Amino acid sequence: MHSDFILQERIAYFSMEIALQNDIPTYAGGLGVLAGDTLRSGADLELPLVAVSLVSRQGYFRQEIDSSGCQFEKPDAWDPTRYATPLNAKIAVPIEGREVWVRGWLHVLHGYMNGREPVILLDTDLDENSANDRRITDRLYGGDTEYRLKQEIVLGIGGARLLQALGFTIRQYHMNEGHSALLALELLRRHAYLPNEIRNGSSPYDVPRVRSMCNFTTHTPVESGHDKFGYELVQRVLGDFVEIPMLKELGGTDALDMTKLAFELSDYVNGVAKRHAEVSRRFFPGYRVHSVTNGVHPCRWTCPCFVKLYDTHFPGWCHEPELLVRADHVPDAAIWNAHLAARAQLIDQVKAMTGVELHPKIPILGFARRMTAYKRADLLFTDLTRLADIAQQRSFQIVLAGKAHPNDTAGKRLIEALHHHMRDMKGIISMAFLPNYDLDIALTLISGVDVWLNTPLKPLEASGTSGMKAAFNGVPQLGILDGWWIEGCIEGVTGWAIGDSSQSSDNDAASLYDKLENVVLPLYYGYSGNQAEWIAVMKGAISKNASFFNSLRMIRRYATEAYIR
Ligand SMILES: *Cc1c(COP(=O)(O)O)cnc(C)c1O
Repeated sequence: MHSDFILQERIAYFSMEIALQNDIPTYAGGLGVLAGDTLRSGADLELPLVAVSLVSRQGYFRQEIDSSGCQFEKPDAWDPTRYATPLNAKIAVPIEGREVWVRGWLHVLHGYMNGREPVILLDTDLDENSANDRRITDRLYGGDTEYRLKQEIVLGIGGARLLQALGFTIRQYHMNEGHSALLALELLRRHAYLPNEIRNGSSPYDVPRVRSMCNFTTHTPVESGHDKFGYELVQRVLGDFVEIPMLKELGGTDALDMTKLAFELSDYVNGVAKRHAEVSRRFFPGYRVHSVTNGVHPCRWTCPCFVKLYDTHFPGWCHEPELLVRADHVPDAAIWNAHLAARAQLIDQVKAMTGVELHPKIPILGFARRMTAYKRADLLFTDLTRLADIAQQRSFQIVLAGKAHPNDTAGKRLIEALHHHMRDMKGIISMAFLPNYDLDIALTLISGVDVWLNTPLKPLEASGTSGMKAAFNGVPQLGILDGWWIEGCIEGVTGWAIGDSSQSSDNDAASLYDKLENVVLPLYYGYSGNQAEWIAVMKGAISKNASFFNSLRMIRRYATEAYIR
């Protein structure tokens, strides 16, 4: 069972969410997909990792949408016994003065070559625990602040303790976002000085030692993405796990800021794109912030027709996606036919899920993301008259998808607004909204559309990864210059920019319309009567972006810059 995995020292990768496969609903969005891709690439490179996350028995939620665009959240329960084996070890964590018992499930993630990685999913649904405590690992990002703090105690402290109880030797810890930062407190307690070793006024813990073991990736400059817990709550729930004055020194005086705690206790900290690292340095002055731009897993995010094409032209591309730099030399017809097959599949899926019949020859714009205000799913609909004008000159179709967090009223209103626009545009622009965005819908969508749209509010998109997935399928992005797109956009070569890289977002909608009307659609329909120029951009997306923005490059950088130091 897990005994195969403890023979070697490992890097422990902690993440609140992780996208293992489509029918395991332990993820909510890009953060979880990135965690999954990191593990998949780790397996392909046979790097010794072990992932730790929560079992989230009720998943995130299954999205249903009524005809007016109102989102309903249904539980998305899954059965761990089908995908994982229960581990024998059992440990307890302190919550509200009680011992709450935690066990783990072992899911073995198989890479796309021969490698495997152990994933430990923490579970409090045990007979030893009270009815309430058994629910702590039920709902991903569910409940209130108190529920979240309890989950983070289980993840950080419970995860570290369970690894130890299982016999893992951990060489480095990697915190994927601040949710797991309490793990560093557990490490502090393991590296406390004896009373006679503490010099007057100095720390009772060997802080430099703990720092040398911890790595932290921050994922968002959006304030609500950083958990903060009031000290009254912390005192009540966590007690004196680490003395409150010490905690205030590490995690902030007003509230326990999990991002600050992770910054403070990690020697290696990084943002997920160059711009995001700069923005993080501004928000957290005084720390060294590296940048490792995100990437996506080559095979997970390439549709079967392109996999076949790449297998023919670039054997070994999954292990060495750099080979895709040669994509410029694949015959145009091969690229286009693969794309047509992917598009036909999307059109079928849209029909099956929504009844909407898209036209097979009219270009499709795609947009799918977590529905949250800063991602601005509605930017394209800022001026409906202008949008209709553009469509009447050169028609296009739109496919949308995305879930809003149950408490995100602005996000839910966005989904309603999109449904209204869909009705307003009837007869002018064919549009569909696919409910319950998940990994499989994402692959069908990003490979089957002609243009991938990305319209976040600067500088809030730390990286964004769906446009990278599109690139693997020869789909160029039309996007705001934020996150990874600042690095990935070569105008007219890999896709197109909306606006410029300045701070201002005032003219984003106008710029989007101008680009669509004057550049993107005319190119698609072929000024010169042939498609070669369009296909050249598809090839540019593959050769220049897929070859670089992949998770193998990303994890090789983590390995050489963070894990081995
Ligand atoms: C890739 C992916 C995301 C993240 O997309 P962004 O462009 O980073 O917003 C979210 N959800 C699912 C299901 C995905 O596959």
